Amino acid sequence: MSDRAKIVLKSGKDQSIMRFHPWIFSGAIKKSYGNLLEGNVVDVYDNKDNFLGCGHYQIGSIAVRVLSFTPRTINEDFYRERLATAHDVRQILLANMPETDVYRLVHGEGDNLPGLIIDIYGDTAVVQMHSVGMFTDKEHISNALQNVYGESLKHIYCKSNATLPKKALENETKDMFLLGDKEHGVVQEYGIKYHINWLEGQKTGFFVDQRENRRLVGLYAKNRTVANVFGYTGGFSLFAMKHGAKKVHTIDSSAKAIDLTAENVELNFGKEHNHQGIAADAFDFFANATDTYDLIILDPPAFAKHHNVLSNALQGYKRINQRAFENIGKNGILLTFSCSQAVSPMNFRKSVFAAAANAKRKVRILHQLTQPADHPVNIFHPEGEYLKGLVLHVE
Ligand code: SAH
Repeated sequence: MSDRAKIVLKSGKDQSIMRFHPWIFSGAIKKSYGNLLEGNVVDVYDNKDNFLGCGHYQIGSIAVRVLSFTPRTINEDFYRERLATAHDVRQILLANMPETDVYRLVHGEGDNLPGLIIDIYGDTAVVQMHSVGMFTDKEHISNALQNVYGESLKHIYCKSNATLPKKALENETKDMFLLGDKEHGVVQEYGIKYHINWLEGQKTGFFVDQRENRRLVGLYAKNRTVANVFGYTGGFSLFAMKHGAKKVHTIDSSAKAIDLTAENVELNFGKEHNHQGIAADAFDFFANATDTYDLIILDPPAFAKHHNVLSNALQGYKRINQRAFENIGKNGILLTFSCSQAVSPMNFRKSVFAAAANAKRKVRILHQLTQPADHPVNIFHPEGEYLKGLVLHVE
């Protein structure tokens, strides 16, 4: 470890790392020694030469993502330990998730592996690196994954082109198989089947984080006319159909997503069904809707990727929720979400409140939702909490 570069923090800037927060911001650094290379592991010290932690160095606002708060070699053994713990946690969760073989194995800081996401799709792991250091360590990670899962893991796809900083590793391909070569497959979530294409799909191929909320929609679907807006590959729609919805419409601006929804509908229900896919912008859809709905799901993409666009994002949530409140029938149910990390649960709720007030509807909060247990929040890293949802009754 002695050949590692060393970073010394400014006096007083060691408080958050002393409380196990895994990010060191570039502004906290007083000086550095040795060859500070992006992607390498560096040791971090306080002003009085006390060791604080080691982690991946990166150029940018978050300079170090801390991997260990005690001195450690970051090798295959390290990843094997961390992945084995993450796997143990998922075994507890999977015991209560019948007929489910798609889940998140590693949720970055939530699993003490900042910069790393791993989603499991049956016999395939899709690995997504958000830091150069994790990408540099991809062989260790791949070997550790194979060690933890043994023969049951047949394919590992690394999908990091869109998530790594643009300037890093400019000439390297960042999407590649680390094991096997399967490009798509069928998985199931509480007995609902999905075609997933991890090469072409959004994120790692699927929005794994909405599993419990998709299941919840089943409780409210019976005999309702459903609009699943921002539906992607139809997850909420499929649960609503399974639980007796009268009629289901899936709306997404991506025609490809609507085609995939049609495939998933047929996979689960055959050719005779009460589903219709609509490729349209959500705002246009509400402007032109001839039907009213009595169950609406709003699951938009992150409207705010940064804090500096927060007020635009809050306006966006208000506008889309207002459209839903204006459309929804008497005794309606609205499931509304925000996955923007920069939007707090209270700010989201205020936007929905303003939308309800503008639409002049009486609204009760029935459930307050968040991300599922396979997307855990590290208690020392509250920024890891990002998904917010409300289930509302509209009089
Ligand atoms: N509810 C989905 C995940 C939604 S992700 C699920 O359970 O899997 C957000 C989706 O919104 C994406 O599929 C994206 O194509 C779509 N989208 C983005 N902007 C949109 C817009 N303006 N109108 C309609 N759909 C949009």
